[in-house]
Amino acid sequence: MLSKGYIVVCGCKKCGRCRTVCPTSALKRTTDYRPKIDHELCNRCMLCVRCCPNKALVYME
Ligand code: SF4
Ligand code: SF4
Repeated sequence: MLSKGYIVVCGCKKCGRCRTVCPTSALKRTTDYRPKIDHELCNRCMLCVRCCPNKALVYME
């Protein structure tokens, strides 16, 4: 698990897969079905980054 940085969303295709794997419910669905990350809840486990079929979730240091 990474201790700093945060995850950004870029190029999302709205499949919803990332929200199903997040262990802390940090990924919220927006009205257009793209995920919005609650950075207070995110523990940077990287599960969503690994599962996204479009590489739309990117870890930024
Ligand atoms: S898994 Fe990727 S493409 Fe699917 S909703 Fe999440 S960010 Fe978007
Ligand atoms: S890095 Fe982990 S805790 Fe953070 S949004 Fe992705 S799956 Fe959830």
